[in-house]
This record gives sequence, C-alpha cells and structure tokens, in this order.
Amino acid sequence: MKSVLLQAGHEGTVRNSGSGTAPSYGAGGIARPEREMTPIVRTWAAKLLRDTGLFEVIEEDAFYDQVYEVDLAVSLHFDGSGTPCASGASIGYPAGDPPGSNRPAADLWRAIYDDIWPFRWKKDNFTDNLRYYYGYRWTSTSDAEMLIEFGEISCPEQDAWLQPRVGDGEGMPSYLGHLVAFFVAERLEPGVEHGIEHPGMYEEWIKPPEDRREVVDILHNALVSNERAKRDVFDAQQLLSDALERIHRTEMRINRALRSLES
Ligand SMILES: [Zn+2]
Repeated sequence: MKSVLLQAGHEGTVRNSGSGTAPSYGAGGIARPEREMTPIVRTWAAKLLRDTGLFEVIEEDAFYDQVYEVDLAVSLHFDGSGTPCASGASIGYPAGDPPGSNRPAADLWRAIYDDIWPFRWKKDNFTDNLRYYYGYRWTSTSDAEMLIEFGEISCPEQDAWLQPRVGDGEGMPSYLGHLVAFFVAERLEPGVEHGIEHPGMYEEWIKPPEDRREVVDILHNALVSNERAKRDVFDAQQLLSDALERIHRTEMRINRALRSLES
C-alpha cells in the first residue's frame, strides 16, 4: 500500500518564530489566516484518499514528532506578501536524492493546478522557505517531498478565488482538498482505478447532482413562499394597528364629548 503524508502548514502555531527552518505563524490573510485554511484542505484530501482503501494516509500539523518514511510527502500552504499580489502559486522541494528526484511530482502538481489557477505562478523554490523548508527533515520519501503554495491570501483577487475553494471544513467537502487527493492518487497509483475523479472546474463541482437539485428547488420555493407569507402577516399587522389607532382616537373623542355633556 502506497503511503502519503499530508501536512497542514502552520496548524497549531500560535506565534511567528520568524524562521523558515521551524514552524511559524503563517500568512495572516484577508478572510482567514493560513493556519486555519491548510487543515481544511489536508483533512478532506486525507478522507478521500483513505476512502479508496488504497493509501496509507498520515496527517500532520506544524509540529512533527518523528521522521516519517512514506512514498510521498506534501506540505500545504497559502502564501502572504508584504506587497499584495506580488506573489502567487508556487511549489517548493529540496534538491532530492538523487538530485532532481522531487521534480516529476512537482511537475504533475503544476500541470494539474495550472488548468484551474487563473493567477500568476512564481518559479519553483523562489524563496529559501520553499527550498529549505523545515518539514523536509522530517520525511524520508521514495517518490517525492514537496510544498504546495496554492496562492497568495494577502492579494484580494487571489484570496477571493481561494476562499470558497478551500471550503468551511467541519466535514464539508473542500475543492482544493479534492484536487490534492486527485494529484496524490494519480502520482502514487498512475493508471490504477483509484476512484478519485478530477473535480473539474469549481463551478461544476459545487452544483448539486441532478437528483438532489429537484429537492433543492422545492426547498427554495418553500423559502420564497414563506417570505411572501411573512410579508402578508406583516401587512395585516400594519392594518390591524392602524384600525386600533383609529378606534383609540374615536374613543377619546367620545370620552371628551361625554365629559362636556356631563359638566
Ligand atoms: Zn505557509
């Protein structure tokens, strides 16, 4: 059975060590910090891979406590930049043994992600944090060890694209998690019926399947007519309170008239 280690970058960190050689706080982001996003992608990818029964999956946070011997090790990250939108998607990996041995896996991920990623790429290993990532010391791999930067969450356009594709977690599907699972399955078991389909474009992926769409329509219509009923009740309440107001004014006039007649 092929094995994969999936690391959620920065998961569990509480402060920035300011170093690429130890766990750090990660990018702050616009909507959510990086350390809250990476576990969502990791957890969904791990679930899909485990469900195939074909892979041994190890999930790690920012703090390794042992060296793992696995076929493939992938660290998941989102980038941040002091100059918004100066960065983009990128891939990191060490020199490898033999040198260059991590390249084919990185090339496969780039090919898969490039089909859907609409923003800029940075060159492989364009920072020391990518080339000398601390996590590489904790994995010994037969195929590859690598780091994925999905994009820059300090760039409004990239972040707006990334947020829904990460998803909300809590057991809900993650589009990027699905894409990572597809990549791992294709890399480790090429040509095998692993059962993890390419998720396709996000817009298609989030659509409910046909049989559920009918139920969704019914529920949606029910919501709309509920709204209408609420408006009707509100209008009726308005009419009632106007009527009460008129009754009250008439009452006061009658009382005044009675008082003047009695005096
Ligand atoms: Zn990171």
